[in-house]
Amino acid sequence: MNTLIRNGTIVTASRIIRADVLIEDGKIKEVREDIPEEGAKVIDAAGMYVIPGGIDCHTHLDMPFGGTTSADDFETGTRAAAFGGTTSIVDFAIQGRGTKMRDALDTWWKKAEGRACIDYGLHMIVTDLGGAGLEDMDDMVREGVASFKLFMAYPNVLMVDDATIFKALAQTAKNGALICMHAENGSVIDVIIARALAEGKTAPVYHALTRPPRAEAEAVHRAIAMAEIAGAPVYIVHLSSEDALNQVREARDRGVPAFAETCPQYLLLSIEELERPNFEGAKYVFTPPLRPKEHLPKLWDGLKHDHLQVVSTDHCPFCFEDQKILGKDDFTKIPNGGPGIENRLQLIYHHGVNQGKLTLNRFVEITSTAPARIFGMYPRKGEIAPGSDADIVIWDPNALYTISAKTHHMRVDYSMFEGFEVKGNARTVLSRGEVIVDNGEFQGKAGRGNYLRREARGGAWK
Ligand SMILES: [Zn+2]
Repeated sequence: MNTLIRNGTIVTASRIIRADVLIEDGKIKEVREDIPEEGAKVIDAAGMYVIPGGIDCHTHLDMPFGGTTSADDFETGTRAAAFGGTTSIVDFAIQGRGTKMRDALDTWWKKAEGRACIDYGLHMIVTDLGGAGLEDMDDMVREGVASFKLFMAYPNVLMVDDATIFKALAQTAKNGALICMHAENGSVIDVIIARALAEGKTAPVYHALTRPPRAEAEAVHRAIAMAEIAGAPVYIVHLSSEDALNQVREARDRGVPAFAETCPQYLLLSIEELERPNFEGAKYVFTPPLRPKEHLPKLWDGLKHDHLQVVSTDHCPFCFEDQKILGKDDFTKIPNGGPGIENRLQLIYHHGVNQGKLTLNRFVEITSTAPARIFGMYPRKGEIAPGSDADIVIWDPNALYTISAKTHHMRVDYSMFEGFEVKGNARTVLSRGEVIVDNGEFQGKAGRGNYLRREARGGAWK
């Protein structure tokens, strides 16, 4: 049966129009005024915005880290995402050192199979380009893994050297994939960490104090320089500081295809959170760390002026009671990560649009359309137009909502945004034409989400 969304205001990255949306076989068939009902199931969107479903291109579901695993799996994580108006994610598979990327892809496909409630793509984290690594990259691109992430931090765990990064960048110049960089100077940070521990500085706040913004800026600069030499674009993940932002802006001003995302936590929280008593600062231990308050308005400004292109979450939840506690006596043992997959649209809408920092169009662009373009999913995702998947959120701009661990759907025992009050929330969420959330009730089912094969030479190459 067809579905007709009537009386809403359609908001995309480029336009705001009053029109109806007709959906057939999971795709958008028509967008225009006064589409006749003709037996379609009608959804009334009067007083609502009709926006493309959110795309969170940075999540870590069911991810092993430091002897434990992130608390949300593909079922609980994607269900929580749907409640918040996110209809696609791109998660990260991790190549084990000395193993084939294909093995990691199979492992992550198995994690998602039968569980994902929304569509999901995968990036591949590259830890080793020895042996057949470069051919492996081409193989992954053929499987729709059109992006790779490399780490300049976490020596001996995930960090790779500059030669590996440069080889990977050069390979994408041939195969059209996109390199994503975790940009922090891990070697320098490790020396600072060792010094702090030797001085008995073990509390959560030292996680932030041992990772200075200049260590991020240096790595961003180096990553962009290597990408320029390789003749490839580069995408900086979870950019957290003004220092790092300046590097991206400077490169973009020169016409270099450098892109970057930030996350709600860097826009709304600051380093003081790590000083909460009773070890509660551990709830805010993730990497890069929260920064002093002065950085926050700079990041908002970067989003407004397109120095930053995307807001993702870096959702990587660990429960406070039995996981974060592993680092009670040593901040380096606190699992790095925080929950956020559910609240991204609410927070960015409220603090961006309601507070006049972002236009409605820009809100849609940074939460949906830009990640679709950059990561090779556009116009299938991130757009409301004939032929696109009917991933649509009916957004109630007047809904009042208080974020709390008591009511959220993420499988984690705290919220980084506990007590935050927002105005604006997803009322009805459609994934490929199917209503999966309506008025706070989940109507989808585990396993309905499809793997997203993404195209190489996406928006970062144009
Ligand atoms: Zn991450």
